[in-house]
Amino acid sequence: MVATHRSPSDADVVVIGAGVAGLRAAAVLHEAGAEVVVIERSDAVGGRVRSDDVDGYVVDRGFQVLNPAYPALRRAVDLGRLGLQPFTAGLAVRDDAGLRRLGHPARAPRLLPGALAALVRNPGEAFALLRWVRPILVAGRAGHQLVPRLDHVPDLDLHAGLDAAGIDGELRATLEAFLAGVVLDEPGRVAQRYVLLVLRTFLLGNPGVPARGVRALPELMAAPLTGRLHLETEAASVRTVADGVEVSTSAGTVRARAAVCAADAAGALRLLDLPAPEPRGVVTQWWATDEAPAADALVHVDLRRRGPLVNTAVMTRAAPAYAPPGSHLVQGSALLSPGAGDAVAEQRMRTHAGEIYGVDTAHWRPIARHEIPEALPALPAPAGDRLGGVVALEGSVVVCGDHRSTPSLQGALSSGERAARLLLPRLGLAHPDHGARAARVARAG
Ligand SMILES: Cc1cc2nc3c(=O)[nH]c(=O)nc-3n(C[C@H](O)[C@H](O)[C@H](O)COP(=O)(O)OP(=O)(O)OC[C@H]3O[C@@H](n4cnc5c(N)ncnc54)[C@H](O)[C@@H]3O)c2cc1C
Repeated sequence: MVATHRSPSDADVVVIGAGVAGLRAAAVLHEAGAEVVVIERSDAVGGRVRSDDVDGYVVDRGFQVLNPAYPALRRAVDLGRLGLQPFTAGLAVRDDAGLRRLGHPARAPRLLPGALAALVRNPGEAFALLRWVRPILVAGRAGHQLVPRLDHVPDLDLHAGLDAAGIDGELRATLEAFLAGVVLDEPGRVAQRYVLLVLRTFLLGNPGVPARGVRALPELMAAPLTGRLHLETEAASVRTVADGVEVSTSAGTVRARAAVCAADAAGALRLLDLPAPEPRGVVTQWWATDEAPAADALVHVDLRRRGPLVNTAVMTRAAPAYAPPGSHLVQGSALLSPGAGDAVAEQRMRTHAGEIYGVDTAHWRPIARHEIPEALPALPAPAGDRLGGVVALEGSVVVCGDHRSTPSLQGALSSGERAARLLLPRLGLAHPDHGARAARVARAG
């Protein structure tokens, strides 16, 4: 782990927060030749992307997957070094008829008949679905990147969007059951433009987890920042001054020509009084068991919604090193809304997991539980500039993070990149893509 505890010194840019947005902003600035300091209030990098070792099990802080199709992830790290262990491309769906395995048409052809059976039951809806997802099947050029063209997609919530598209019945229920565990919200109230982007990444990539936990991502990103990273250092205030900014921290004042505020939504609200999107919460329960309840690494959902879980998966079917030899690790996640109380008690979550897999869970051992009330910033319709936003405040402070973008790793990483790109010209630096590393041109001012 990269960590520095000495006091942060002055720099070109001070980055507040070492989640993936802050780490990405810092990396782009550093590669371009800027002097960067990163201050992080907690004891490790990663923000919401953390993992712990618990009795020989690798336990992520909430069920979280990395999608190799995220363009910003591919730009941020060498994916090969993450050692991603993919889940099976598809979904296992529990309904009254039993457990159906629906496969990705290209990546899990073995499971295709089940998926087709679900669609062919109503060919009209299959056609409506194709029409609805068409905007994400074609990509247009924006600068040097290929991005889907969503400008013509009405900026409605998913509920209204699916109504307008004529998508209903089991197909809609399956889509919503899958999405609930991704957007950690009632899917109907999420912006459909964002949902379409999510579906595009699932069509293009097969999500997985690094062999020893999702923490591998921020740790890899932090490696080049050795000596510039200050853990357990909290920013208390950010002040714009004549020649830049002053950030007062628990370890003294840092002066810089500019600041990137990459704190989470609540942190940005505290520091800069920025309006924050409503948070969405999740509770993830981890169980150890000697017998895996499923033979494959599919994420499982309950179409009947007969319990609190929005999804469950056998982690060790994708990533065997998440448990000691001979043992398995299972996760179950439920939405955590204020007052959820007993509805998400461990026993209820375990019972529901048992119903989904169709197994007895009496012998499962609870080994960890994460209640995360601020897991994701909500993204209701209209999405507006959240699909591409970064906020510039008073010239020398730029705000990034998933609360300014889409609530995802892609959103956080790309907003970190954009924040850095916004500052580079002010620092008289070229983007690392546009010249040699550390191409320092004449500094302004
Ligand atoms: C349970 C869960 C599951 C998820 N699943 C997925 C998934 O499957 N796929 C996906 O793409 N995304 C997923 N996400 C979302 C993804 O993890 C986040 O969107 C992303 O990590 C946000 O990164 P960030 O850098 O914007 O914010 P954060 O990770 O919150 O980082 C902000 C950092 O700022 C620090 N900070 C705050 N205030 C201060 C201060 N005053 N001084 C110093 N430091 C400060 C915080 O300690 C934190 O480290 C999930 C999130 C959760 C919680």
